[in-house]
Amino acid sequence: MKRPTILVLGAGYGGLATVVNLQKSIGTDEADIVLINKNDYHYESTWLHEAAAGTLSPEQVRYDIKHVISQDKVKFVKAEVQAIDVKGKVVTTDVGTHAYDYLVIALGFEGETFGITGLDKYALSIANVKAARQIREHIEYQFATWSLEDEKDDSRLTIVVGGAGFTGIEFLGELANRVPELCKEFDVPREKVRVICVEAAPMVLPGFDPELVDYAVRQLKSKGIEFSIGTPVVEATPEGVKIKKGEEEFEFIKAGTVVWAAGVRGNRLIEETGIENMRARVKVEKDLRAPGFDDVFIVGDCALMINEETNRPYPPTAQIAMQQGDMCANNLVALIKGQSTSEFVPDLKGSIASLGDDDAIGVAFGKKMTGKKASFMKKMVDNRALFLIGGLGLTLKKGKFNLL
Ligand SMILES: Cc1cc2nc3c(=O)[nH]c(=O)nc-3n(C[C@H](O)[C@H](O)[C@H](O)COP(=O)(O)OP(=O)(O)OC[C@H]3O[C@@H](n4cnc5c(N)ncnc54)[C@H](O)[C@@H]3O)c2cc1C
Repeated sequence: MKRPTILVLGAGYGGLATVVNLQKSIGTDEADIVLINKNDYHYESTWLHEAAAGTLSPEQVRYDIKHVISQDKVKFVKAEVQAIDVKGKVVTTDVGTHAYDYLVIALGFEGETFGITGLDKYALSIANVKAARQIREHIEYQFATWSLEDEKDDSRLTIVVGGAGFTGIEFLGELANRVPELCKEFDVPREKVRVICVEAAPMVLPGFDPELVDYAVRQLKSKGIEFSIGTPVVEATPEGVKIKKGEEEFEFIKAGTVVWAAGVRGNRLIEETGIENMRARVKVEKDLRAPGFDDVFIVGDCALMINEETNRPYPPTAQIAMQQGDMCANNLVALIKGQSTSEFVPDLKGSIASLGDDDAIGVAFGKKMTGKKASFMKKMVDNRALFLIGGLGLTLKKGKFNLL
């Protein structure tokens, strides 16, 4: 009998966890495994805010996919997926087409701009390594230009961060530490620099414990970060952003840098598959398959699962993406062996938001923590993700060991 082909799209947390587990549990005589990703490297999306702020080099954030896959078991194809035909069971990329018997869609997240005028064009977004590098270089360019100008435009030194959710707060934490370094490097007085967080919702970090949120806001404010909460961005222009402060009251913030970190959606390719979705996220069956398509699994940020305790979707996280990758591999093996699939149940170990390299807030194993202790835990979590995919070698090479 012909060996089935398992095609995995995306080498982020979900896709790599699927492949790394599949290669351990399936023989080359049982299935052909093909992994497609647009780059030949994986990047730690959860570290991108550090690369964007310039507190971590983009090189440290990524690693070669071939280092973590068994090349005798998995064929890696560097290609950009352009279309997914789930009826014809074929995927089109910029370098050719791939037929499959089983498909795993793990194409991750994209920024969501909610249709706000100008954001797509004038705001930067922490979407991938290249985008993070662009943000870092854009900010450095603004500082360098300011110090050269005869007639100085201080708005070059204003950075607006849209969104006070997880990504926005983690990015602000890095910026709070990075700004003094930039001031020193580019001869800029610190008081000339403004970093403003603009959030539409009435609160910072919705879903986090209020005491931890207070701590985070206090810490960030003490490092000069400003907050404008409950003031939605209504327009972005080349000069900055317009925010709504009241029924008929608006303010324009002139800013050399606008970074949009206020929401994610699934990969747009999902919307053209004909699979039912909400903002490119598919409400998957309990075993992670797409409704109506028994040969298609969806993991990570493209999958949507409802937490039955809260009746709300689980937030898209690397933690869940990796656990789904494990379960997806188990279920693929089960199907190939003619067994039944299992239900995916997330095992949530907590959530920690960093506030720079030396501070954090979070809950881990049911315990609230702040400061250096939380920051230590955060680095442990980061190192664990590396270990689960690439073992000790990768952890030693890319891990975070400035633990105190
Ligand atoms: C700054 C930041 C901080 C975060 N912090 C945390 C945190 O602390 N904890 C946590 O749990 N989560 C965190 N998250 C969320 C987490 O990063 C995501 O939930 C996670 O990356 C989702 O994993 P994934 O496998 O679905 O997708 P990704 O990790 O996004 O991987 C998708 C992969 O698909 C590839 N791809 C995309 N389109 C194509 C295409 N057309 N063709 C080929 N390849 C393609 C991409 O290059 C990428 O390799 C953070 C996110 C950000 C941005």
